[in-house]
Amino acid sequence: MWQHRRYKKKEDPVKRRCHRCRGNGRAPCEICKGTGEVVKSRDIHGRPISSRCDGCFGLKAIRCTVCGGEGFV
Ligand SMILES: [Zn+2]
Ligand SMILES: [Zn+2]
Repeated sequence: MWQHRRYKKKEDPVKRRCHRCRGNGRAPCEICKGTGEVVKSRDIHGRPISSRCDGCFGLKAIRCTVCGGEGFV
């Protein structure tokens, strides 16, 4: 048997702080893990050569994809 449920219609609350970036609007870059650099090659000694991350352009953070950089959703 199916009954109508009387839920109070939720009022759209004031924008809430983004759960992912916690209101920063920015999230650590996932490509470089927030370091701003990625190892792209190694030198002849096998040492990693890191260069600027293409994902965040060295900024270490990218615009949060959840809130689009606003920090609130
Ligand atoms: Zn990056
Ligand atoms: Zn966010």
